[in-house]
Amino acid sequence: MNIESLLQPHLLGMQAYVPIVPFDILSQRLGLPADQIVKLDANENLYGPSPRALEAMAHASHLHIYPDPDQRQLREAISSYIGIPYEHILCGAGADEIIQLIGMAFIQPGDALLDLPPTFGMYKWLADVVNARYVTAPRREDFSLDVSAIETAVVRTPKVKLMFVTSPNNPDGSTVSDEELKRLLQLPLVVVLDEAYIDFSDQPSRAAWVQQYPNLIVLRTFSKLLGMAGMRIGYGIFPLDVIKHLWKLKQPYTPTVASAVGAVAALGDAAYLQDNVQRIVGERERLRRLLSELGWLQVYPSQTNFLLCRVLADAASADGLTRGQAVTKHLEKRGILVRYFNKDGLRDCFRVSIGKPEHTDALISALQDMKR
Ligand SMILES: *Cc1c(COP(=O)(O)O)cnc(C)c1O
Repeated sequence: MNIESLLQPHLLGMQAYVPIVPFDILSQRLGLPADQIVKLDANENLYGPSPRALEAMAHASHLHIYPDPDQRQLREAISSYIGIPYEHILCGAGADEIIQLIGMAFIQPGDALLDLPPTFGMYKWLADVVNARYVTAPRREDFSLDVSAIETAVVRTPKVKLMFVTSPNNPDGSTVSDEELKRLLQLPLVVVLDEAYIDFSDQPSRAAWVQQYPNLIVLRTFSKLLGMAGMRIGYGIFPLDVIKHLWKLKQPYTPTVASAVGAVAALGDAAYLQDNVQRIVGERERLRRLLSELGWLQVYPSQTNFLLCRVLADAASADGLTRGQAVTKHLEKRGILVRYFNKDGLRDCFRVSIGKPEHTDALISALQDMKR
């Protein structure tokens, strides 16, 4: 018997999501101790969680008991942090779990998902997982949204149910304006606004808009500003008519007891969070200046904890590699990891997360050596 013939057919040809490489494997591959690796490839927060969150997780009790499926304490803490009633909030094992739940809720085979690339890779992954037709309305060269093209795509695409709008966008850091978002919300589909990086932005969150727009969902995460990517915790903010159905689909016991306890403590440490925003935004602007001064990178404006750089034509290159690949490889040899892209809209680019000042210094010094 051919066991694969029993699988869902769309799974057979599906491409796997390419996640990051774990620290211990990296350390082996690079021949460097883990604490010498400068990991700037996944937009994690190198300051880590608040000491209060670490303390709370270390002393978490009731680890032998399942978590509260209603997530009461967690949702109340988030509610006071974002100023929106807790009935609108549902938490999962990362925003990634919420993305998957939304796909399960809205997509049946034959429905379409509209993506606005270049953007976060999980939306394409979701389309594959739930067997949605994957339709795109690409961003302009400067990463702004082409709202008219999006409107046309929606009109022309039968059964299009979901659209993902990331603001600030990953991997470039640009934002969507109120006017653009309002136009998108007039379209007959669900608009999922991914605000993973909103804390680093000048722009206010649109989370409260879910009380006004029946087709808006907002995503947030503890992985970026809150420094808890390893704890897997994120949430969605939903209109009440949507959230009541999502509760039925969600597995009952995510996130874990330890992540929930840590998250509540992290949200309670407003001073630490505020300091972190200032440190990271300040460092972002310093890194932007230093990268631009190299003279061979185009650095895109960013409202996030990362910067996207395009390697310009006169930069050093090596045999058989694009210039960006040569840069990425050179950095990797020094134990500095950045995320390289070479696809439509992202030709020969790398994205670098904002670390601590010493990480900026190591990166710049390695890039300066490259030019010689
Ligand atoms: C990092 C990131 C997330 C967060 O995902 P988690 O599953 O919460 O770690 C969501 N959306 C975007 C655009 C991101 O870059």
